[in-house]
Amino acid sequence: MNFWERIYLPAIIKGMTITISHLFKRKVTYQYPEQKRPMSDVFRGLHILKRDDEGKERCTACGLCALACPAEAITMTAAERTSSELHLYREEKYAAVYEINMLRCIFCGLCEEACPKAAIFLQNDKMAQASYERSDFIFGKDRLVEPFLQSKS
Ligand code: SF4
Ligand code: SF4
Repeated sequence: MNFWERIYLPAIIKGMTITISHLFKRKVTYQYPEQKRPMSDVFRGLHILKRDDEGKERCTACGLCALACPAEAITMTAAERTSSELHLYREEKYAAVYEINMLRCIFCGLCEEACPKAAIFLQNDKMAQASYERSDFIFGKDRLVEPFLQSKS
């Protein structure tokens, strides 16, 4: 070791040069959730249960999505539509309860492919928020069904 190596000055200067050079490079981190990263068009995020053009829920609780789901993340309870509910559900049968466990879901998209009614889709711009509570990851109809106003726009 020569004198300069013994006082570590070249190593310190080299390290500081690398550090300072990074100050002027493009930042690779995002301040999530305030700042969101652009998602790919094929990104599969949170599910949405769609309505038709009249605002009626498309899902008929046929159960094919639950059958196709490899993670067994989907559960539902079917019910019969009454005459006073004609404006709410497109067909005679509907899902009174529809839940997806986002802790089990692997976002494979098979539920979307299996659905014969084009009722369920995975959105490419939404993902489940972090939480300490398991119950926050059980998404019911209140969080899955498309808002009526949104479907009309
Ligand atoms: S995306 Fe895949 S794992 Fe998630 S609910 Fe649908 S079928 Fe199941
Ligand atoms: S989302 Fe589609 S596949 Fe699943 S129960 Fe409803 S209609 Fe059937």
